Amino acid sequence: MERTLGIIKPNSVSKNHIGRILTMGEEAGLKLVNMQMKTLSQAEAGGFYAEHKERPFFQSLVKFMTSGPVLLVVWEGNGAVEKWRQVMGATDPAKAAPGTIRKLFADSIEANSVHGSDSVTSAQRETAFFFA
Ligand code: ATP
Ligand code: MG
Repeated sequence: MERTLGIIKPNSVSKNHIGRILTMGEEAGLKLVNMQMKTLSQAEAGGFYAEHKERPFFQSLVKFMTSGPVLLVVWEGNGAVEKWRQVMGATDPAKAAPGTIRKLFADSIEANSVHGSDSVTSAQRETAFFFA
């Protein structure tokens, strides 16, 4: 059974969208197997997004991700990585398909409501990063 890491980002936590977002994952057939609410430190957010550290938006992304609590979730299911990516929609909400989380709830390409691992390999690394 595949697992993937999801993060409900600070904008969605502060706007009370947690319940609807988790429902969308559950209705897609994903099983919630672990979760934790926490405010990420600069080191955690920077380490988590280390692959983006040369990108122009990195500092701003770390600032956003540490701006308030996030909900870390672990989803389980057949093809969980791809399934959660489908439910989330495209990174840029302007390009996200109708009915996806990012289309419904994202405020911008940066404050785009949710994270999801982009491969099985990333999912294993990211799940271990937060749920050792
Ligand atoms: P995530 O990794 O959060 O699931 P993703 O895989 O769809 O999103 P990435 O390319 O990995 O997108 O970018 C990581 C995060 O960095 C995005 O979710 C978004 O919050 C932010 N980001 C990406 N591109 C931009 C951009 N051009 N400007 C500002 N922030 C961006
Ligand atoms: Mg990514």
